[in-house]
Amino acid sequence: MTTIAFIGLGIMGLPMAKNLVDAGFTVRGFNRTAAKAEELAAAGGQAASTIAEAVDGADVIATMVPDSPDVEAVLDGILAAAKPGATWIDFSTIRPDVAKDLAAQAKEAGLKPLDAPVSGGEPGAIDGVLSIMVGGDEADFAAASEVFEAVGKTIVHVGPSGAGQTVKAANQLIVAGNIGLLAEAVVFLEAYGVDTASALEVLGGGLAGSKVLEQKGQKMLDREFAPGFRLALHHKDMGIVTAAAREAGVTIPLGAAVAQLVAATVAQGNGGLDHSGLLTVVEQLSGTSASAEDEDADAQEGAA
Ligand code: NAP
Repeated sequence: MTTIAFIGLGIMGLPMAKNLVDAGFTVRGFNRTAAKAEELAAAGGQAASTIAEAVDGADVIATMVPDSPDVEAVLDGILAAAKPGATWIDFSTIRPDVAKDLAAQAKEAGLKPLDAPVSGGEPGAIDGVLSIMVGGDEADFAAASEVFEAVGKTIVHVGPSGAGQTVKAANQLIVAGNIGLLAEAVVFLEAYGVDTASALEVLGGGLAGSKVLEQKGQKMLDREFAPGFRLALHHKDMGIVTAAAREAGVTIPLGAAVAQLVAATVAQGNGGLDHSGLLTVVEQLSGTSASAEDEDADAQEGAA
């Protein structure tokens, strides 16, 4: 496996493709907006101007696009141009049932499909230390190990096609819940005027500690919400997990509540913020956001 086509060079895809270049693979990148493929070329990869050009003769085809319809759209182009026997690794986070259907289509066309969603965020992608949960045939997974090792650190085969996406849905449930409670803790601590940086430091050393607290705590304190992982994508993922839970006949009451908070943040036009920006809606509920305070001041001025 020496030549890799990489389709979707966004926040996650570009650094992953660069790590594959650094690991010695020939990487041909395609991105809808061409400038990002040029960035890959500047880092030692190649820029393809069409999916067909990227995929032609490639041993491995990697995709990293936002949602199920996007993967469906790029797969059409891949199937038209891929060489028989190539491995298709979909790193995107999509619906488990769609992943299963697309894997069947890809197999029918002679490809070896693996659904391999990732966790670890942009820093994990840049550092090549992502957690990767893989669904598909065990032999295809084993044959692609060098590709996974170039972009990830914790790499686990979790079952047949679609299983990787099921595990990722659980991942997104846990992360959203963590972010929601961290945001509530920040609002709570600020209400008491304690030194929040010290508070988060000590919380981080105990059972309340988490990767979410490590990566998102200071950003919440600084109100620094440049993505990272866009709330619009987490909204998509909460839709995936709530639908899949319903389908399985299990309930996720805390997850459903967080899903509504994420939906509210997106509905207010903040889908482009990092998911730590969930804090904005949690603040509004307590009337502690800057805008809520302004309205309060205006109301008091009006009354006076
Ligand atoms: P992103 O920055 O928005 O990048 C998405 C990429 O897909 C862009 O290059 C975009 O091209 C391309 N694209 C979008 N729709 C397309 C279509 N219909 N056809 C072809 N290309 C298309 O998103 P991201 O943050 O990298 O996320 C990608 C996937 O990884 C998502 O499924 C997300 O849930 C998952 N994920 C993200 C993170 C994270 O922290 N960001 C972590 C784990 C998993 P343009 O440049 O033209 O827009």
